[in-house]
Amino acid sequence: MRYLSTRGHPDRPHFCDILLEGLAPDGGLYMPESYPQIDDATLTRWRAVYHGKGYAELAFEILSLYIDDIPGEDLRALCCKTYTAEVFGTGEIVPLRHLEEGLWIEALSNGPTLAFKDMAMQLLGNLFEYELARRNAQLNILGATSGDTGSAAEYAMRGKKGVRVFMTSPHGRMSPFQQAQMFSLMDDNIYNIAIRGVFDDCQDMVKAVSNDLEFKRKYRIGTVNSINWARLLAQVVYYFAGYIQATENNQQKVSFAVPSGNFGNVCAGHVARMMGLPIDKLVVATNENDVLDEFFRTGVYRVRGSADTFETSSPSMDISKASNFERFVFDLLERDGSRVRSLFSDALSQAGQFDLSQDAVFARAQSRYGFVSGKSTHADRLATIRDTWQRHEVVIDTHTADALKVALDFRVAGTPMVVLETALPIKFAETIVEALGRSPDRPKKFDGIENLPRRVTVMDADVLAVKALIARECDGT
Ligand SMILES: *Cc1c(COP(=O)(O)O)cnc(C)c1O
Repeated sequence: MRYLSTRGHPDRPHFCDILLEGLAPDGGLYMPESYPQIDDATLTRWRAVYHGKGYAELAFEILSLYIDDIPGEDLRALCCKTYTAEVFGTGEIVPLRHLEEGLWIEALSNGPTLAFKDMAMQLLGNLFEYELARRNAQLNILGATSGDTGSAAEYAMRGKKGVRVFMTSPHGRMSPFQQAQMFSLMDDNIYNIAIRGVFDDCQDMVKAVSNDLEFKRKYRIGTVNSINWARLLAQVVYYFAGYIQATENNQQKVSFAVPSGNFGNVCAGHVARMMGLPIDKLVVATNENDVLDEFFRTGVYRVRGSADTFETSSPSMDISKASNFERFVFDLLERDGSRVRSLFSDALSQAGQFDLSQDAVFARAQSRYGFVSGKSTHADRLATIRDTWQRHEVVIDTHTADALKVALDFRVAGTPMVVLETALPIKFAETIVEALGRSPDRPKKFDGIENLPRRVTVMDADVLAVKALIARECDGT
């Protein structure tokens, strides 16, 4: 398998060439040259693999179709090391929970940080360690987080050889649980940097450091953001595992409802569907930050400014633009890289938006690719959390509530609807208390986490100071 850029660059790298990279050289995102097609016999075999040998073997089957530059036995070992009951809480790894006739929740949030980002990031940690060792290289990951991404990255990379993580976050703005999760890590290769400012200040600093090409090269600065193809690929696996659990045979179709921000999660669903997994609808659910809902309803993709980006009670979906969306538009435009380039690099930077409503391809987003969408508000979240508790005695988190709310508008009798659970409620306890008048359950291993000793450096939003910290740690001075 080779990969290509959504903006038409002629390079055709293999998987490991893009594993440690972010964007393609022309600023596009990497996509597989083609989607391997899964026939009925293969899907039947994978059903047996998942029920018999388990999730890690299913992951190996799927990943090996996209990765041809890691020996099979090594790749299998990496999958088996990643997807264990010990790390993810159950043998099924992503068990389905039945709510009512035709309605399921797929639990993706029982990894180390209690959010679905662990599903991909844990694999990425093992892939990075493997590839860096093979190249005898080092990588310093510099990131900005408002919560879930940073903690998932730190828990995936802690103790890994060849990798350091420098993670900036806005001082005092993450939930107390998220702060405790990150700052209590004592591993030598993990550096928490709390910035006096907001998330955008953190992100701007990361950009400024990465734009200093000499510094970037000297200190081998990399990222683990959601445009990384390996992260997206890892997420394809749980669409297959969810489908297999919700059905008895391959004639049945399933719809998935996905709480969406940067479009990484649901884009993995798109990839699974393109491979031939019998998915009916991909339901894109947003919160008040409805860039994606607006596109799927109207054909207009309009990036928001910071004044129009709201802080909500499902904060991991508070985005101003959806960084993986270009991948789907690439397919929608029949892989016309020059058109994608003109939309994403010209139209977006000049006008902040583009409009496909008059283009014949727009209708295919739904008719051919199965996308539908809806949005949810704070009041919807509270009502959905309350209703799910009262009718099913199940507590769901705020992001999952956004997806469930929208999912209910697209249910069709006879087609199971699987709602992806992207975080556990304990991460967003304040809103659960607001909805239910009680705190959500806390997994045992997190008892007293707020009282553990902390390792964090607080500093101003000062690029030079961050660079100095990185240099000091890397040079060992
Ligand atoms: C990251 C995140 C999302 C959004 O996922 P995308 O892949 O960015 O669309 C939704 N819910 C939670 C809890 C998250 O951490």
